[in-house]
Amino acid sequence: MGQLNTFPLSYKVQGQRIVIVGGGDEALNKTRLATKTTALVVIISRHIEADFSALPVTVIERAFEPGDLDGTALVFVAEEGADAQAAKLAARARGIPLNVVDVPAECDFYTPSIIDRAPLTIAISSEGDAPVLARLVRARIEAMLSPRIGKIAGLAGSLRHKAEQLIHDGAARRRFYEALVTSPAIEAAEQRGEGVAAATELLTQHAAANGGAGVVWLIGAGPGSEDLLTLRAQRLLQEADVIVHDQLVPEAVVEMGRRDAERISVGKAKGHHSFSQAQINTLIVRLAGQGKRVARLKSGDPMIFGRAGEEIAALRKAGIGYQIVPGVSAALAAAADTATPVTLRKVSSGFIMATAHGADDSDLTHWAALAQSGLTLALYMGKSISADVASRLIGHGASAALPVGIVVNAGRADKALYSGTLGGLANGAVDFADGPAIIFVGEAVAAGDWGDAAQVAADGFKVA
Ligand code: SAH
Repeated sequence: MGQLNTFPLSYKVQGQRIVIVGGGDEALNKTRLATKTTALVVIISRHIEADFSALPVTVIERAFEPGDLDGTALVFVAEEGADAQAAKLAARARGIPLNVVDVPAECDFYTPSIIDRAPLTIAISSEGDAPVLARLVRARIEAMLSPRIGKIAGLAGSLRHKAEQLIHDGAARRRFYEALVTSPAIEAAEQRGEGVAAATELLTQHAAANGGAGVVWLIGAGPGSEDLLTLRAQRLLQEADVIVHDQLVPEAVVEMGRRDAERISVGKAKGHHSFSQAQINTLIVRLAGQGKRVARLKSGDPMIFGRAGEEIAALRKAGIGYQIVPGVSAALAAAADTATPVTLRKVSSGFIMATAHGADDSDLTHWAALAQSGLTLALYMGKSISADVASRLIGHGASAALPVGIVVNAGRADKALYSGTLGGLANGAVDFADGPAIIFVGEAVAAGDWGDAAQVAADGFKVA
């Protein structure tokens, strides 16, 4: 991220003056902005040309005098000439921040594009570089926000003291505020003029529920690209107090969580286990037991080779609420990456997601038969033992000529593809890229687009 040359802040003008030197359209534009505040807005110019009559301002039609800046918080200069010069000098002499319209070099401050839902303000600034972009962003944010959001922010402000008295836990208090500002019922009540009563009622409920019980969301993060996360996953990541994530979930996805959420990596990288499964179970039960909302973020889909079964059992046993959010499993991302229809009319009547790791002879016998009959196998956790698994499948009756396709880092920008035959894979000559992999086996693989794939065998299967 680049560094800013300006510091965005909200500057107090209440009880002070904002002086605008100029009487034309540019002065009028700045006046519209200035009158959004409670400051006393004073227009000074020898030539009042624009129509200021609709605005709550004091218009003084004469030459500028330095005394005009008594009690002034901000000065805008929106004309040229002697008065403008005098105003600039006077502002600088008194150390009053100055904005000279359309002359960035002479400005102490710029006015951002503003969304006004007082007391909520959103200011968008491009430091003068791209005002058009700033306006576009503003329009989008404007569309997202209810016009009543300012009133609701005001409700939150008025209940602040009470909320502190009634809910002591900071996380629980934040949940109350989140409920307050997102609840359609509160918005409706506000519209009827019953906002205060409804908000107070909500506060009482939250206080009675001891600020709300903890919960664990088992969330599928998808294969590792931010835009393959579901909207629900994204929303819950924004609500979580703690994010407990696996090593396979990339940093960029973990970063999408609420900024001040605690993050705990339980890094179950292959080969080193920083947390045992039992420790993870204990951890999520403990965190939720403290009333926290825990996002348990797993790669792909949580229900597929994600040890979700054990975590759910632990949560049930402890009486903790949970919810499961599906994700795009690696095999589906791999199918998409390679345009491989894993089920295909007249070729493949089914699709098996299976683990290569720990597969025994009876598993392999079974899968060899399924692959032989046309079903597509998607093998997880098999990259480092792919040659062994391929030769065992052949040993159990799968044809060495069956197409195979392998996707390393499926769904990610750095994906790498390999294609060939089961016999070729059994040769064990492939030097795979780093990263997790899906191995597809089956006739339907030949229908995919493996165009750029490295070949795992010189003989046999090749895409036209
Ligand atoms: N729950 C996950 C699977 C976790 S098990 C899911 O539904 O995808 C870990 C295995 O998933 C890895 O060994 C690998 O086989 C597979 N995997 C996970 N992410 C992957 C990715 N981006 N590309 C290819 N395979 C991946």
